Amino acid sequence: MAAGTLLPCPNCQSTAVYSVKFTWWGGVLGPKMLNHTQCTNCNTTYNGKTGKSNTQGIVVYSLVIFAVVFLLYFLFFWWTDLASGEPLPLESAAWTAFLFGSSRTL
Ligand SMILES: [Zn+2]
Repeated sequence: MAAGTLLPCPNCQSTAVYSVKFTWWGGVLGPKMLNHTQCTNCNTTYNGKTGKSNTQGIVVYSLVIFAVVFLLYFLFFWWTDLASGEPLPLESAAWTAFLFGSSRTL
């Protein structure tokens, strides 16, 4: 990707900017979706296509990822619960047997 397609830094007007390939909040996909760009002069990060801050996009992106992960997590346990037809093994005999083994004297 040519560097000329990126807008100059909105903070210091420097053209010494580059596309961020990886971030802690969005991995590889997040910065790509938001055209995440960083200035090598003042380290400001922004959207290389719009020249605006990506803060709002990062928050939305993080919330979406969190919601998807939460939903998958919830669906997994819901599905497991339905498939087994039994409650989660927190108080089941199997869980008790796992904890106390065959030495249980009740
Ligand atoms: Zn800058």
